[in-house]
Amino acid sequence: MSEKFSVLQCIRCGATYEATEVRYRCDCGDLLEVAHDLERLRFAFPDMRKRFAARAGSTQFPYASGVWRFHEMILPDLPMADIVSKPEGNTNLYRTAKLSRAFQTDRLYLKHEGENPTLSFKDRGMTTGVSWAKHLGMKIVACASTGDTSAAMAAYAAQVDDLRGVVFLPHNKISPEQLAQAIAYGAVTLALDTDFDGCMRLVQQVAERYPIYLLNSMNSLRIEGQKSIGLESIAQLGWRVPDWFVIPVGNAGNISALGKGLREAYALGVIDRLPRIAAIQAQAADPFFRSYQTGFTERIFVTAEPTLASAIRIGAPVSHDKAAKVVAEFDGVVEEVTEAELMDAKALADRCGVAVCPNSGVALAGLRKLRAQKIIEDEQTVVAIMTAHGLKFSQVGVDYHTGAMSALPPHHVNAPLVLPADMAAIVDALQLENGR
Ligand SMILES: *Cc1c(COP(=O)(O)O)cnc(C)c1O
Ligand SMILES: [Zn+2]
Repeated sequence: MSEKFSVLQCIRCGATYEATEVRYRCDCGDLLEVAHDLERLRFAFPDMRKRFAARAGSTQFPYASGVWRFHEMILPDLPMADIVSKPEGNTNLYRTAKLSRAFQTDRLYLKHEGENPTLSFKDRGMTTGVSWAKHLGMKIVACASTGDTSAAMAAYAAQVDDLRGVVFLPHNKISPEQLAQAIAYGAVTLALDTDFDGCMRLVQQVAERYPIYLLNSMNSLRIEGQKSIGLESIAQLGWRVPDWFVIPVGNAGNISALGKGLREAYALGVIDRLPRIAAIQAQAADPFFRSYQTGFTERIFVTAEPTLASAIRIGAPVSHDKAAKVVAEFDGVVEEVTEAELMDAKALADRCGVAVCPNSGVALAGLRKLRAQKIIEDEQTVVAIMTAHGLKFSQVGVDYHTGAMSALPPHHVNAPLVLPADMAAIVDALQLENGR
């Protein structure tokens, strides 16, 4: 038995491996997860909630981080000296009368993960992933990505001496905003003449044969950092557990992390009950929703169609099994939304002063549907997880408001008024009345 608090454990056959082994899958082929010895943790760190609460608002390394504030629950064996943090987390939890009215949910909170350093929640996973790479003495980290994962990995690798970040991107298939972060942070950026799946295959092949640490979401160390989204939200609510979390689902790593964190916090006595979880997908890429409709007796794969929620355009979610377990355990529901619904929901949140991405719009549109169906009830407290900032996907927003998406059709359009530089034209356009 290991001296350590944590091992890697297969989610199917239960086989365990040292957490310091560079390994992404079990010998049986299934996914691994970081399994913590919760009994020992409970004994070693009594009154864990008090510990976490005492670190609120800290400005000190590493507890200024919304991830490492929960160190004992994240990676208890990781020495402080190996922590690579920006810091990340401590994102705002928005509750305003306008948002409540817009989404007809009185006790609605938006957890804005777009307020992380590279503008998405992926930073929470990369602080643990890159810290572990440093702990293992790796010299190269790599990932395939078309956006947020590569931005976060490049940013964290850039903080470590002698650590090279390598990003596998499909050439000419990503937006300037997505490319900008990876190259600015100095990652070796391989623009390959293939698609995302091609990049994924190649990065895995290279990582199998060379000493490269793979930081795609099959790396279970990333999940540990992402657990902090749920924990931090609950801490912000004065340690009151909401009735619901609503979360968009693509590769299903984030919902797996949410569930794992809540399950462990409950076992450790950090929280006193469990919430329900609503997983929302875009109709264009809805394998998890379709599997749910079979009661998860069947696992359905789809060819993901184009969607404005491009971060969740995935037909074969890697973490399907973990996520299905979370839905079962948390009395969860899975819903799907159309392109028009997700864009209108995004625009509505923007209009309330909280700029979110189309993937976040998926969660918000799902919330509206679940409220209409009365599955989420009037008096219930809801935390909706906004996964990235609106400005990471600015062209989508401009297109929506300038009529380039008239096919949808949009309901909250606010196009710029192109006018002559003329006082009368301005007064006319603003429909100003005389007098003051
Ligand atoms: C990665 C990502 C998601 C999807 O998370 P999964 O873990 O793949 O389900 C959603 N939104 C944004 C903005 C992302 O970057
Ligand atoms: Zn196994």
